[in-house]
Amino acid sequence: MNIGIIGAGQLGRMMALSGYPLGLRFTLLDPNLDSSGAQVSDCIQGEYDDATALQMLAAKTDVITFDVENVPVEAVMPIAQLKPFYPPVNALAASQDRLVEKTLFRKLGIATPEFRAVDSLLDLQQAVKDIGVPGILKTRRLGYDGKGQYRLKNQRDIEAAWNALSSLGIALIYEAFVPFTREVSIIGARNIKGEIAIYPLTANVHQHGILHYSVAPYRHMSLQKLAETYLKRVMKHFNYVGVLTIEFFVLNGKLLANEMAPRVHNSGHWTIEGAETSQFENHIRAICGLPLGSTAARGYAGMLNFIGILPECELILKSPGVRFHHYGKEARPARKLGHATIVASSASKRDHALKKLLKYSLS
Ligand code: AMP
Repeated sequence: MNIGIIGAGQLGRMMALSGYPLGLRFTLLDPNLDSSGAQVSDCIQGEYDDATALQMLAAKTDVITFDVENVPVEAVMPIAQLKPFYPPVNALAASQDRLVEKTLFRKLGIATPEFRAVDSLLDLQQAVKDIGVPGILKTRRLGYDGKGQYRLKNQRDIEAAWNALSSLGIALIYEAFVPFTREVSIIGARNIKGEIAIYPLTANVHQHGILHYSVAPYRHMSLQKLAETYLKRVMKHFNYVGVLTIEFFVLNGKLLANEMAPRVHNSGHWTIEGAETSQFENHIRAICGLPLGSTAARGYAGMLNFIGILPECELILKSPGVRFHHYGKEARPARKLGHATIVASSASKRDHALKKLLKYSLS
């Protein structure tokens, strides 16, 4: 079986690496033939909306998935009719627009921060009146890792925020700033038969809007149950196939959904070493109609991203029990270049090891 992946970033690379032991083949599609995923797999060169390249991908493969969210929906529609395409195109479309996504959460009874659509300065003034400050003005589309966001501390910031983001020419959304105590994510897989497997919650720490490190399992029985209920609602809504992630803020013991990702997620990288079956393998199993693997944690895992600067491999490997993942990417500021994972026999041992690693990740 040959699996097509649109996008050949580190997520595509890790998906391919997880599928090789199962005898699966991969063909990726990416503009850059030296991208992270292309270094370990067959790759067709082309933009994500290149109709000819997409047709070539469909012709070569049995099932198609993606490793990036900004795959243009219109462009992939034709191949989604030719070949099984998972996760479903409508889940991809919803995840690309924060307003659609949050409106869906509301419809499904999933709590979210207060939000308003903003298409003019007047709208923003009204949104601030309704929701108050502090708040965050975000682009509805094409924002990731904290890009396309402006934090409003008080009413005087309204014009500056509007000027900063309206020039991008993308519709906006204003959200209440959530003074969260923690950020967590839930990751699960649903296969073609409708079987579901969900990982324990992961606790995430961001820096400048980018995931810095994660620890898992984050054990909290009632939040785990609630997050699973929310995840299953979204899966059912889309008749979902593949891995789905929802990121939440924890506030006063409750979950507020920030966003969903219809794909394997950075906060799930710990599952490679820290769970019985990795998120990558479970995604591949799900889209190939295979039984899902156990999502049980193997211990206490910590995952640290290397952003902008990648430390020497030797430095990381000399720490006992630490695994190093190098994405094969050129260093650039704010770019995710690799990560390290530690799996320990107790939370305190994990935290101790993670603290030592943190000094290598400061960018
Ligand atoms: P996002 O691009 O929406 O995932 O935002 C990146 C990060 O910015 C989040 O993980 C939070 O740390 C922070 N953030 C985003 N939206 C909010 C919000 N409404 N309230 C507080 N922090 C936020």
